[in-house]
Amino acid sequence: MKGKVLLGHGSGGKLTHELISELFVCHFNNPVLDQQADSAVIKITSTSLSFTTDSFVVDPIFFPGGDIGKLAVAGTVNDIAVSGATPLYLSASFIIEEGLPFSDLEKVVASMAGEARKAGVAIVTGDTKVVNRGKCDKIFITTTGIGQLPEKFVHISTGHRVKPGDQIIINGTVGDHGMAVLGDREFAQFTSGIRSDCASLNPLIRKALEVSPDICFMRDATRGGLATVLVELAELSGLGIEIDEEAVPVNENVKGMCELLGYDPLYVANEGKVVMVVPSQESEKALAALCSDPLGKESRIIGEIVESHKRKAWLKTTIGGRRILDMLAGEQLPRIC
Ligand code: MG
Repeated sequence: MKGKVLLGHGSGGKLTHELISELFVCHFNNPVLDQQADSAVIKITSTSLSFTTDSFVVDPIFFPGGDIGKLAVAGTVNDIAVSGATPLYLSASFIIEEGLPFSDLEKVVASMAGEARKAGVAIVTGDTKVVNRGKCDKIFITTTGIGQLPEKFVHISTGHRVKPGDQIIINGTVGDHGMAVLGDREFAQFTSGIRSDCASLNPLIRKALEVSPDICFMRDATRGGLATVLVELAELSGLGIEIDEEAVPVNENVKGMCELLGYDPLYVANEGKVVMVVPSQESEKALAALCSDPLGKESRIIGEIVESHKRKAWLKTTIGGRRILDMLAGEQLPRIC
């Protein structure tokens, strides 16, 4: 499709039908969506489902390592995968600003389709609205996802099976996504060399669950970064956490940019990082499985669950001190996802 998106493309009339058939159905192409019914009819066999939704308003919509489309698929896929479920179906809802070039929209849609294929999910239903110029910024996307959750993994998102001695693992460097988007938005004239880690983690997580089915907790470290997940985990489990700052992988460029701008990489958003809590006897196996995947090459054990200082996450700093981790009071970096 050529030209720009018009208000009429969200009208429900002829232009909307053209947009749906020539762009969305063409790229997302799957038998359920092809029916073009009022709702997608899907079959799921398990009794427990994982069901999640997320809106994406990232600015800029294209950034090093990804774009709003890839993010909208990977973000929702990851929320399902970290609960131990297999992501199956997504819906995608678009709010588009009048005047968005079709070339940009097509790039975003193609990127969503590519990421969905990679993650093994089908985008089976959706909606499009077009708003007047200035009433939204280029494009906002909401994705909702459903996954099949085996009963044996139902405890993973609650943190209730976490116990002292369990090891905490992360699948690589922290802070890349937040600094990639911020760098591109605010300092586009410089190249920081930082790329977003945006990726669907379900294949990586599946590998870890296969060798270590007793993984007792998982969460993706998105907004609020690694630190926020650790604080949440301390509260959920009612136990203490000790993290070795030196063990947390941080890319040199991210470290440099954080120092320059006054950010702590532990609090900067990721879009391809999962924090796992694994019983100590399984931790080496889980680590090896993660390291065998391209998205987990730099996986590390970064700390453990402890009996002391209950409900608090402590950080052993690189200079030998100790500090307590807390949640951020306000929004650190707006519109990074
Ligand atoms: Mg999450």
